Amino acid sequence: MSWTDSSGATKTVWLERDDLLSKPPSYPQLTQDTKTDVVVIGGGIAGLHIAYELLRSGMKKVVYWRMEVKIGSGETGRTTGHLSADNEYNDFLNLHGAEGTARIAAAQKGAIDRIATIVDKHKIDCAFVRLPGYMFHGLPTSSREFRLDTLEELYDAAEKTGKLDVSIVNDTCIKGFKSGPAVRFGNQATFHPTKYL
Ligand SMILES: Cc1cc2nc3c(=O)[nH]c(=O)nc-3n(C[C@H](O)[C@H](O)[C@H](O)COP(=O)(O)OP(=O)(O)OC[C@H]3O[C@@H](n4cnc5c(N)ncnc54)[C@H](O)[C@@H]3O)c2cc1C
Repeated sequence: MSWTDSSGATKTVWLERDDLLSKPPSYPQLTQDTKTDVVVIGGGIAGLHIAYELLRSGMKKVVYWRMEVKIGSGETGRTTGHLSADNEYNDFLNLHGAEGTARIAAAQKGAIDRIATIVDKHKIDCAFVRLPGYMFHGLPTSSREFRLDTLEELYDAAEKTGKLDVSIVNDTCIKGFKSGPAVRFGNQATFHPTKYL
């Protein structure tokens, strides 16, 4: 088992990096008992971000605990790298009401902005780029009217949050692919997750 195998049987483009495969990151291990404020377990984007934010907030002693050297080898190394606030806001509205849905939108947008700030602050070479995200109907058999109805519901719910740059477009303009109508979310992002970690 290689160090990139903690989750899933196949490799992704993010994990197939010569520098990672030949020289996996290595850190000192704890050799004795220690007292600490927080122990963070897991080397994915959630664990690393929490450890980073705790240290930045002034917490002095954060021990970061991981399985061997497998940073980024879990789901984070298998993501599509889409940093998005484009979600099913129509479902959120039914489940959480207008206030809850606005909070979800703010949290999602805030997370993208936070990553952008960190990338910029530390000059991380991880191909971070702002771009729009699209939600379109994936059912080719459904009628155009049905698809538009669902998208309009999604658009209305997303727009109502007051946090998102949304519009309805006739096509996503992806080369060689006709998506049909879509909800466009402006100012989303993409990055290379293992380079970021
Ligand atoms: C195919 C796919 C595509 C996706 N696309 C997107 C996308 O485009 N955009 C998006 O936002 N999300 C996407 N996701 C979801 C996203 O990848 C995950 O939500 C995110 O990476 C989870 O991060 P994490 O840090 O919680 O978990 P992980 O990255 O899995 O990290 C958990 C880590 O904990 C370690 N661990 C587990 N148990 C222990 C233990 N007992 N002791 C020590 N360490 C332990 C694991 O080895 C692992 O490294 C996608 C997921 C998949 C599978």
